[in-house]
Amino acid sequence: MLIDLRSDTVTRPTPSMREAMAAAAVGDDVYGEDPTVNELEEFTASLLGKAAGLFVPSGTQSNLCALLAHCERGDEYIVGQTAHTYKYEAGGAAVLGSIQPQPLRLDRAGQFDLAEVEAAIKPPDTHFANTVLLALENTKDGHVLDPQYVADAAALARRRDLRLHLDGARLWNAAAAAATDIAALAEPFDTVSVCLSKGLGAPVGSVLVGDAARVASARRWRKMLGGGMRQAGILAAACRHALDHHRDRLVDDHRRAEELAASLQDCPGIHAVIHATNMVFVTLDNSIDPTQLAEQMRKEGVHITPGRTLRLVTHLDITDADLDQARTAFATVLQSL
Ligand SMILES: *Cc1c(COP(=O)(O)O)cnc(C)c1O
Repeated sequence: MLIDLRSDTVTRPTPSMREAMAAAAVGDDVYGEDPTVNELEEFTASLLGKAAGLFVPSGTQSNLCALLAHCERGDEYIVGQTAHTYKYEAGGAAVLGSIQPQPLRLDRAGQFDLAEVEAAIKPPDTHFANTVLLALENTKDGHVLDPQYVADAAALARRRDLRLHLDGARLWNAAAAAATDIAALAEPFDTVSVCLSKGLGAPVGSVLVGDAARVASARRWRKMLGGGMRQAGILAAACRHALDHHRDRLVDDHRRAEELAASLQDCPGIHAVIHATNMVFVTLDNSIDPTQLAEQMRKEGVHITPGRTLRLVTHLDITDADLDQARTAFATVLQSL
């Protein structure tokens, strides 16, 4: 099997995860009767220090349910120009919610200039959409947000009467990297979306957490969006297994990404290498043809997405031996191009 460094979404359920799925107690979750889903929602909410949780099929739907629960038609949310909730969710908030995004620039660390955020908040005026929400993302391109920045952003939001949503698809990685309790990272936010299907290795699933009223509203939106699933405990069992068994090992993914970054520094044909949590970004010299590199790497058993800047991601299915093979493959192929 190819060593797949394209994303941490490519993981396959482990044998013990599949056993947990097969053994899951289930019921009809639209009736609120799936015990495994109910437990997952409660457990995830408690881990994140929130009152309630909602199990959803994807992070995209989780973020969309949150945006719909926070914003009315004609409201506006402030979001990063390169944030998932703006750029990579097919414009769902605008298309399905009549919610206007106000995208703003994020720096390399995934952070707004808070003065720009403040300036973008529209005063009450019939000309303007109502700015009601600020959306952050942690991690962003693998970067863990600076806690002081998050505190400052939250203070600004409170002062200007905005609510706060966090796209925490990889907040588990942020908690592991910072060796902090994930609840502390979630604390400033009204709602937080977390993915179980990335580095944690579940096949499907995200959870949206927040206070009971907001989550109840999001539950109604989930139904409208077609995300009300029936015997979903089979999936929730995989997510619970991931939470119980795969959180502590995220630091291994981070170490492997760091090792990969270190060996790439020394390879020819490389312009820049950035490492952050489980991601490595490699910018190639103009002399390297990215498609040719990807093809040659594939012959060496390594799957990458071609690009002038490569994103390489470590995850549950990448072992130390796989990593060694990938490092050797990069060194050999880059030498030959
Ligand atoms: C993966 C991801 C999501 C959600 O993605 P789905 O594929 O819909 O589960 C949201 N935000 C970020 C930052 C992500 O990386």
